[in-house]
Amino acid sequence: MRTLADDGYLAGGNTPWRLWGVLQQGLSEAEWELAAQEARSCLEGLPAAGLPDAAGIVGSVLSEEQLGPDRWRLGTGGWAYYALRRLIPRPARIGLQRLMAARARKGALLRWPVEDRYVRFVAEVVCRLCQKRGLRSVPYVHFWPGGRRFAFVLTHDVETAEGMRFVPALADLEERYGFRSSFNFVPEGYEVDATLLADLRRRGFEVGVHGLRHDGRLFASREVFEKRAVSINRYLRAWQAVGFRSPMTHRNPYWMQSLEIEYDSSFFDTDPFEPMPGGTMSIWPFIMGRFVELPYTLAQDHTLLRVLGQVTPELWLRKVDFLREHCGMALIDTHPDYLRRPDYLAVYERLLAEVRRQGDLWHALPAEVARWWRTRMSWIAGAAGRVGEAAVPEGATIGRITAADGEWEAGRPVLEPAYYVS
Ligand SMILES: [Zn+2]
Repeated sequence: MRTLADDGYLAGGNTPWRLWGVLQQGLSEAEWELAAQEARSCLEGLPAAGLPDAAGIVGSVLSEEQLGPDRWRLGTGGWAYYALRRLIPRPARIGLQRLMAARARKGALLRWPVEDRYVRFVAEVVCRLCQKRGLRSVPYVHFWPGGRRFAFVLTHDVETAEGMRFVPALADLEERYGFRSSFNFVPEGYEVDATLLADLRRRGFEVGVHGLRHDGRLFASREVFEKRAVSINRYLRAWQAVGFRSPMTHRNPYWMQSLEIEYDSSFFDTDPFEPMPGGTMSIWPFIMGRFVELPYTLAQDHTLLRVLGQVTPELWLRKVDFLREHCGMALIDTHPDYLRRPDYLAVYERLLAEVRRQGDLWHALPAEVARWWRTRMSWIAGAAGRVGEAAVPEGATIGRITAADGEWEAGRPVLEPAYYVS
């Protein structure tokens, strides 16, 4: 199978030791490598499990090699559907989408809505390291500021002018729960209201760029992409935006290096329902070349409410439980275009209310998360095992990762990590 290893993995630097920021003195990279080798069994069935070093394993997983060499090409079915979809009457369109969704889910290579293999891998690496060193737990730089358990990030893609008209009402709703979000607009899809952008920013919301046009052509060829990237960069500057999401989550991280962004959010941990299905399996941000990737980890509103016909936020909340357990990032991508429907909006509001009620979250805008992650990662890269010598980045706390107490199976501890934040 063709791999991208020859080009170098854009995300290969996100090794487990960089991800964790373990502050145990005297751990060598060779020890980490050995632990990563042993933990590969968590990735069974994935091409990464056969790779020799941690950078390769992580780079392969985060660049979705589990989906094969054509993962970033749109299948002919996808092209035909997007070319023809305006001609398909609405009721037939939703029927067709449900049919395609059922097929996608059945054939999916990754689990959904929870795909935990990569999460288990990075935890197992630390646990094996503890085991070898005879340590019950090790300190690490906790993932989120203030020792909060997980990050909660709201993003929206605004597909049409009708969607744009609903933005103020949606912003009001989020504000009532003490939340702010980012709205990604399509620069050349409809007349973007400059007053609205200014107003959103003034209220503490964020503005981002959602492709150039919403026509499914952005990744049609390298040439098309590079040409459009010039315009996208112009809009980024004009809107003082630093974030991007690709329409229909079409993506290619190598091409996307031409975008002058701080973060992208076109990838996801697992989503079999997208026109380019896949998943990075990561529930944390990661560095992808020049930008920070913020994968969305909660199902899109369109998928959950329209295609799967859910009438409660149950599936979202179950995923939030998983993300909270592993101190991940709950990042959702919803659309004012769909949330205009009162019944859909009611489900979204129930999600906001419940997450607010449960608490212990770090709520931030995507740009803030990206900046935090970059700061944390650069500090960890420079700290290299020092304990208590350098001040941790502002807002950071030291936690402990602990292999579960007492349980042994086949001569080794059951590696169920617990995270404690002090
Ligand atoms: Zn869109």
